[in-house]
This record gives sequence, structure tokens and C-alpha cells, in this order.
Amino acid sequence: MDETLALAMDLIRRPSVTPEDGGCQDHIAERLERVGFAIERLRFGAVDNLWAHHGRGEPLFVCLGHTDVVPPGPLGEWTSPPFAPTIRDGLLYGRGAADMKGSVASFVVALSRFVARHPDHPGTVALLLTSDEEGVARDGTVKVLARLAERGERIRYCLVGEPSCGTLFGDTVKHGRRGSLSGDLTIHGVQGHIAYPELCENPISRFAPALAALVDEVWDAGDADFPATRLQFSNIHAGTGADNVIPGTLRALFNLRYGPKTPAPLLRERIEALLARHGLRYTLDWRLSGEPFLTPDGTLRAALQASVQAVTGVTPAFSTGGGTSDGRFVATFGAQVLEFGPLNGSIHKVNEAVVAADLERLTEIYLRTLERTLAM
Ligand SMILES: [Zn+2]
Repeated sequence: MDETLALAMDLIRRPSVTPEDGGCQDHIAERLERVGFAIERLRFGAVDNLWAHHGRGEPLFVCLGHTDVVPPGPLGEWTSPPFAPTIRDGLLYGRGAADMKGSVASFVVALSRFVARHPDHPGTVALLLTSDEEGVARDGTVKVLARLAERGERIRYCLVGEPSCGTLFGDTVKHGRRGSLSGDLTIHGVQGHIAYPELCENPISRFAPALAALVDEVWDAGDADFPATRLQFSNIHAGTGADNVIPGTLRALFNLRYGPKTPAPLLRERIEALLARHGLRYTLDWRLSGEPFLTPDGTLRAALQASVQAVTGVTPAFSTGGGTSDGRFVATFGAQVLEFGPLNGSIHKVNEAVVAADLERLTEIYLRTLERTLAM
């Protein structure tokens, strides 16, 4: 069995449902320490973080990943237990196989091979692991980055191991992400008997035209890197349960996935103006969970693209689709950030799996990317 696959199985065997780490980082720290990495354990709140680095000075190249996984869901639906890694028909099954213990194993093996091959490499190579990426993401990457910034350590290149590929290993690199802005909206009316609507103010009737206008609104047309900004409602609720009562309030939750063309303050302004135009009395709480970012063509993109092509024979497409990742925190420091990992079709599902043979290929891609980026 190859080294990357063995390590991935070792990690899956350690249950680490977010924010637990399950001993994964201890195991990785021990391995990297043996090959010359300096190890720093950074615990914030209930979250374990690992900062392992080799070399000194700039440029600083960081491999970014997480050791936590999402809960397994109904155990009875797993063909083999989620924390007992099993290979069937060329697939490695287990919670975290694709998201993202497979990539973490590839990072560890690639970094070990890199420093063995180039003990006097320029700059610094590092692995940053957190155990709260799948949770609230408050005491993980964000805190470690703040600590690094305090010390004046500036990340120039960052490779995130999130599973990025669609149908073919090598088909997709994420070179940015859309922003995510959520709204928690309450429309205020006046409750009363449904037979006396003139004595009430029905928030459902009042909100309906505004809801239609929000859904129909064209926010922007997108561009070559970002799809058009979209607004979606996720929850809407009003009513007391009784069929003869006009409710006093309506609550609606919505989310915008947006590109840099329409920044969050502008979206907020446009939505509040629309609600005001409809004469609504409302309260609206905003939550910004990630600003959009984009890594333009440069050293890291060229290195990763060439490495993916060399190892897989596939030319990757660059995409900003999908949800957010911890890459958004690194990008705010001005680093070049790219995400590349295995196929993502099974992530967060029961019977999560990764193509076993892809892990060693992923290691090779990460290793070549390190070498090309640092001009070895
Ligand atoms: Zn992940």
C-alpha cells in the first residue's frame, strides 16, 4: 500500500467530528517533527490547530487543511462503519476520505518528500491544520492567521486541500470563491381576528410583493470569473397555527452568493431601499460570512496547472463555484490562494469515498506545485 493511502486510513480511524481532532494532529506533528519540521500547537477555545514549518524567511508557502469532519449521519446507511477505513472496488470509504483527510495525508507526504529532496529550499514551507473548519470556524484558521500576522509572518502562497474536482480527477481548481451574505428579516404587522382585517396589518400580504421583487431582482451579470450574484430564500415563517388569526410578524431568512462586482454594502443598501419602497416596517440583521476573493494568474496558478496536467493529463478549469472555505481568511492577507483536491461528489454524505489511487497522484501534484512555485 502506498504511503499516502496508509496515512489517510490512519487519520480516518481517528474519529474527529467537528470541533474534535481525535488525535490526528498529534500523529501528523510527530511525523513532520521526525523529518525536521518545527511544530507549534495553537489551541484556541475547544479547537486544536497545528502550525508546522520548515526553512526560514520568505516566500512563505502554506498548505491549508482541516482534521475535523462532519457527523456521519445514520450509521445503518453506511456499508462499512464511517471510522473504519475500507477499500472496496478501488475506493477508500470512510468519513473524511474526501473532505479532507485524503488531502491532509497528501500534504504531509508531499511536504516530507519536498524537504527530503530539497533540505536547503528557499523560504518557508508550512502546514496549517485546524479542527473547526466544518463548524463555526471561529477559533481555527482565523485565529492562527491573526497570530502569524502579529509576528509579521506573511503568507505569499496558499494551497487549500478542499475536494475541488467534479467528475474527473484534475478537472477543477478553485481560484476564488463568491462572498456569502445572509439576512434575517422580520416584517412587522398587527395581529388580530381574520374576519376583521381592517383592524389588523397582515405581514404576509404586505411582504408578498417585496418577496417577488427580491426574487426577480438582477443584482449583476457576473463576469469571466464569477457567476451572477444570486439571492435565495431558505426559510419563511408566519402564523400562529390557528386559521382565524392574522399573524403579527413574518420572518424570512435569505442568503446572497455574490461576486466582487456588487460588494456587500451595496447589496445591503439595495435590499433595504427595496423594502422601504414597499412601505414595510421591518428589522433586518445581516451576517457576512465571507467576502469574495480571486487569485489572478501568477506563479501559483501556473505551477498548479502544470502539475495537474503533468500528473493527470487533464487541463483543469478554474472556477469560483461552490461554498466557502477557510481559503477566504487567507486571501484577506493578500496571498495567492488556490484550492485543489479530490472528487467532491460524496462529501458530507453517507458512504463518503475517494478513489484510492488518486491520493498518491494528489501527493505528486502537491509536491510538483511546491517545487515549481519555489523554482526548484
Ligand atoms: Zn472540507
